[in-house]
Amino acid sequence: MADYNYQQTLHKIKEYGVVEEVNPPIIICSGLPGAMTGEIVVFENEEVGQVMSLLRDKVEIIIFTQNDIQPGIQVTRTGEKLQVPVGKEYLGHTIDPLGNYLFTAKGTKVPSTKRGIEVQPLKLMQRRRITRQLITGVTLIDTILPLGKGQRELIVGDRKTGKTSAVLTTLKSQHNLGDIIIYAIIGKKKEEIKRVVNYLKTNKLDNNTVVVASSSQDSPSLIELTPYSAMSLAEYFREQGNDVVVIFDDLSTHAKFYREISLIAKRFPGRESFPGDIFYKHAKLLERGGHFVTKGDKENSITCLPLAETIQGNLTDFIVSNLISITDGHILFDSETFNKGRRPAVNIFLSVTRVGKQTQSRLSRSINQEIMSFLIRYEKALEFSHFGAELSEEVKKTIAKGNKIYSLFEQSYQEVIPLEIQEIGVGLVWSGLFDEVTTGEVDDKRRVLVTKYEEKEFKNLVQKALTVETLKELTNNILAEKDTFTKMLGLKGAGIPKVTEEVVGNKVESLDKT
Ligand code: ATP
Ligand code: MG
Repeated sequence: MADYNYQQTLHKIKEYGVVEEVNPPIIICSGLPGAMTGEIVVFENEEVGQVMSLLRDKVEIIIFTQNDIQPGIQVTRTGEKLQVPVGKEYLGHTIDPLGNYLFTAKGTKVPSTKRGIEVQPLKLMQRRRITRQLITGVTLIDTILPLGKGQRELIVGDRKTGKTSAVLTTLKSQHNLGDIIIYAIIGKKKEEIKRVVNYLKTNKLDNNTVVVASSSQDSPSLIELTPYSAMSLAEYFREQGNDVVVIFDDLSTHAKFYREISLIAKRFPGRESFPGDIFYKHAKLLERGGHFVTKGDKENSITCLPLAETIQGNLTDFIVSNLISITDGHILFDSETFNKGRRPAVNIFLSVTRVGKQTQSRLSRSINQEIMSFLIRYEKALEFSHFGAELSEEVKKTIAKGNKIYSLFEQSYQEVIPLEIQEIGVGLVWSGLFDEVTTGEVDDKRRVLVTKYEEKEFKNLVQKALTVETLKELTNNILAEKDTFTKMLGLKGAGIPKVTEEVVGNKVESLDKT
């Protein structure tokens, strides 16, 4: 935000008010008859604030710093609405919601272009059906819960279940594919900001990324501003023709700070003491995401990944259920899955993606359907096995195969797996080539595939194998290249069944009958 000089502004506007009541971050002033909501005001001590609302004969102002304002001092208005600087200069940097650099040497150039914080979202005519997949690099998400570019997907779960970690993998993957990433850290601890910034640095992801951060020690008004400021920046990059991913970490915290401001401003508290307009606030923010077409029929998108925190997995919590109804689906991380040792700890059966599936290729869709229905059978078989009953060969095979699929989903958040390798991995499990690989070894074998994928010859082989429409055909292609895969992965390749369906097909009827 630009620096304002009190005397100069007063000279221009010729209108002033006097501070009557101070209740940080809310200031009540008398005077200023021409004030409008959202307008920037300047206090006598050069402190800057924004008009929050107009009372009958007073003006309610919100300030963004925690500096002292005394009753009795004067304030004038600027006639300007709150705007933030936006520009390429910010790439690779961490800024606060007002566009000031954090962790950057003083004197670094601030962009001269400015943009409003709360702008109207693009109209229906400029929106398009979501058609391109957003590759997250997380096997579980890309195969089972695919996301599309322009989708708004909620990442929701209990504390410390790996929400941030999953979006960091997505960030890495999309960064490498050339998207611009805006990471909004909303009212988090300073260590959390450091963690994200360090991750970007060590993984060399900072050239296409901007972190917009506010810490829990900042003023609630500054924290409240964070997601809107990040979105304005995202819109700027979208207008430059980029696909943008914007991450809000997290909106539960945002809602809490907004509640704090509203209670201080004596707004009538509603459910769980949140003000009545919290739904509107979040809907207005996320509505700015989507898949758009701009001048010259060029397509670009803003994908929104808001995070939200649940308490003991409660999805009916006010803010979370609001967000679920605003977004196009949610990925649920739960502590139970986390405690089982699964990383990422996604509860597959309670997660939803509404528009992502339409972006998948026929093969990916086939893999998605087959694996999903297989996992349901697997869970059933697993439940059944807990009774200690003697298991038939088929049930044992289902369990073994299911374990293998889950170990394929197992992935460190530092690791990005190309979509092609994810699909080949599923094909390898499905064809039985991975039967002799222990669950612990899956990771190593996959790493071999990822490294090999950089070689042209292997890349061609993989891409040729993937030019089919069903998982069954893919399996056949892999079996046709059995020797290449077994040699490369150091497998024996013994005892591979001819017809794979015998192992994984619909042969669990015996289980349903019992
Ligand atoms: P918070 O509620 O504090 O925001 P969170 O849900 O964002 O937490 P993270 O901080 O991402 O969770 O992860 C919690 C812990 O789990 C971290 O120590 C992280 O290293 C570990 N973790 C999460 N996902 C993975 C993964 N895929 N591989 C390895 N470790 C993981
Ligand atoms: Mg987190």
